[in-house]
Formats: sequence, C-alpha cells, structure tokens
Amino acid sequence: MAIYDPTQKLEPSYDAHTHLNDDKLFRDVPAYLGRAHEFEVREMNVVGYDRVGNQRALEIAQNNDGVYAVLGYQPEDTAEFDEAARAELAEQVKEDKVVGIGETGLDYHWDIPKEQQTQAFLKHIELAKETGLPLVIHNREAFDDVYAILKDSGLKKVIIHSFSGTPEQARAWVELGYYVSFSGVVTFKKAQEVRDAAHVVPVDKILVETDAPYLAPVPVRGKTNEPAFVKFVIDDLAKTLDMPVQHLAEITRTNARRVFLNHD
Ligand SMILES: [Zn+2]
Repeated sequence: MAIYDPTQKLEPSYDAHTHLNDDKLFRDVPAYLGRAHEFEVREMNVVGYDRVGNQRALEIAQNNDGVYAVLGYQPEDTAEFDEAARAELAEQVKEDKVVGIGETGLDYHWDIPKEQQTQAFLKHIELAKETGLPLVIHNREAFDDVYAILKDSGLKKVIIHSFSGTPEQARAWVELGYYVSFSGVVTFKKAQEVRDAAHVVPVDKILVETDAPYLAPVPVRGKTNEPAFVKFVIDDLAKTLDMPVQHLAEITRTNARRVFLNHD
C-alpha cells in the first residue's frame, strides 16, 4: 500500500474500536489483520453491535492474538435485545477474550424508540457492574440523556467511543474520569470542535480508534476503513496536540491496555 512512506518507522499502537465483524470486513479478516500487523497495530478491540456481530467478534478474538472482543447491542439493534439475547450476552461476556461491554448508549439521530434503547442501555450498565468490565459508549445527538444516565450509574470505567462533541462535553466526560476515544473524525476539515476538545482530555485518558469500516481518516477518506488506518488518526491527533507521533501512539496504547487489559 503506497499511502505511507515505507521508510518511516511505525510505532506500536492499539485500535480501541473496530468492526472486523461487519459484513464489509468479515470476509477478509486475515488480510486486514495482516495489514494491521504491517502497520504495527499490536492490539485491537472488535466491537459487537447485534447478535451476529457479537458472535463474530468473539470468534475473531478467540482465534487471534492481540484481538479482543467488546460485546453488546448498539441502540439501532436493540429491537432484538430480548430476554434470550440478554441471557446469551451475560454468558458470552464471561469468556476470556472479552474486555468490555458495548457498544451501548443512545442514538437520537435515527428513529429508534426511546424507551427501548434506554432500557437496553440500562441493562448494559448493569452487566458492566456485575462483571467489572469497562463500558463502551455510543452517543449520537443524545449527550444530555447519556450523561445523566451514566453519571447516575456511578460507573468509573467508561469509554466515550468516536467522540464527536464539543470541548464542554469532553470536559464533562473527563470530570467523571472517563476515557475519550478519537476516531477519523479528528482528521475531517469541518471537525475543528473535536480537535479543540482533544486539548481538554488529559493524556492518560485519550484513546484512538478506527471504527472501521466507517469514518476512514484523511488521507484515505472515502475508502473502506480498516484497523491499519489507526495510524492516520494518531498522525493527525499528534499534530493537533503538538505531540510527537511516537509519544501519542505509546500513550494511547498504554491507556487502552490499562482500561481494557488491566495492564499498567
Ligand atoms: Zn462502532
């Protein structure tokens, strides 16, 4: 792939949120993992969103070193989060390679029944409390309600996935002690607010992710995103924070290993 200078030294990194379980990527998992390896992505979390997505995430994690699973039902798929699905999820999250619960939260962009997604969100919070696993949050146009519910939950290990809010919102998450995860959105021209927000987050609370196959960062915007491209998120965010790329890669990897793998 001629999109980066092969003489450039790549730093080991951790993609905190990717969907190799998505139809677009699932067929070619070995190829994407191979490329991630070339790009020095040493660890990644494959994040579930529905029943099939959870099964696939678990399977990919169990078959590959350095790949972990986060399991849950995203707001859009909460219609299928019935009693049976809850029972199944409660069993799945006991597996060794499961390092988090999610993605879960609230999404007011799509027309998803509010009561349905709120109830599912509360169930995920309960499961995070029972297991002690960190909770991975999807928030779309629902900051006030997500904030109120999380604050009330008393949970401490929480990750705000693909942060796309304002500096004030970032500050609110930081005050609760949460991790804030930046995706390719930070590389988008229009996202100055998100770049401003990055300055608000203490370095020991910053994570990076691709959210592949979505949100491909500049300079590969418009392509199908993949874990290898977390490099471009790091490059851009390092520039924004005026920090050496090497340092940001290292610190975000350390943070991810701390919150997901209990490594210090
Ligand atoms: Zn996602």
